[in-house]
Amino acid sequence: MMTQCDESARDGDEAPRLLLLGGTSEARALSERLARETGVKAVVSLAGRTRAPLASPLPTRVGGFGGVEGLRRYLVESRIDRVIDATHPFAERISANAREACAALGVPLAVLAREPWRREPGDRWIEVADIAGAVAALGSLPRRVFLTVGRLSVPAFRAAPQHRYLIRSIEPPQPEELPPSVELILARGPFSCDDEMRLMREQSIDVLVTKNSGGPLTYAKIEAARALSLETIVVQPPSGDAQRRLADFEAALDFARAKRPA
Ligand code: NAP
Repeated sequence: MMTQCDESARDGDEAPRLLLLGGTSEARALSERLARETGVKAVVSLAGRTRAPLASPLPTRVGGFGGVEGLRRYLVESRIDRVIDATHPFAERISANAREACAALGVPLAVLAREPWRREPGDRWIEVADIAGAVAALGSLPRRVFLTVGRLSVPAFRAAPQHRYLIRSIEPPQPEELPPSVELILARGPFSCDDEMRLMREQSIDVLVTKNSGGPLTYAKIEAARALSLETIVVQPPSGDAQRRLADFEAALDFARAKRPA
């Protein structure tokens, strides 16, 4: 979908044009820094999964590009000089598309990624490679499960209907995507450790299921589970692209400011 933002990226000065692939708190924080940068023309891209995303300080386009080919076309038409992939560590497809499209065009790409959470003393983690592994790790006996894996990963748990689920997500899953026994909490982090502990106690949770999303915003559930000595099934992140990883925001800003050689 082409918007006014795409048009506005064409006019004006010789400032480098940056595409920031977003949908995370890190992308949002970087947008705020970039909005104060006069030397960069940045556009944020969101997938459009959240119906009411937080207001962005930068021009924003919403919706998929149409695969690698669509992204490649967008980069050419909007004369993008550089791309920062600040998407969620589990958003594998868009990251792979960005690698392919940028490589085809010689557009420099860098990744602003979070460090995954590390197991601390007292954590009762069961680490699994993917969501199917998390479903299997719940076992056959019925349990009270706190499911915080994101709406799009909920349907996989229909394969384990013996459990009672407390599901927390920003947007409601579709009813047909839910396992039979479900209570739903619609909320967006950050959450405090005290609140997470209270919720887990009040709901008599036996086991927490989470992606290892990294970052501080949703870490309180991990701390709360540790404090309550609660079993935690942790879906580990895909390996990602370590080579192009930016160390921090300053490195991201330096990368954004650099102009592509003619
Ligand atoms: P995904 O599986 O990697 O991407 C699926 C498709 O969605 C992509 O092929 C692309 O469509 C479109 N897309 C994804 N991110 C986009 C972006 N920033 N701008 C434009 N199009 C985008 O991604 P996902 O796991 O569904 O996540 C979607 C978004 O939610 C990402 O931006 C991510 O940062 C955010 N998010 C994901 C998670 C998670 O657990 N996966 C958690 C929190 C936030 P086309 O092929 O048509 O271009």
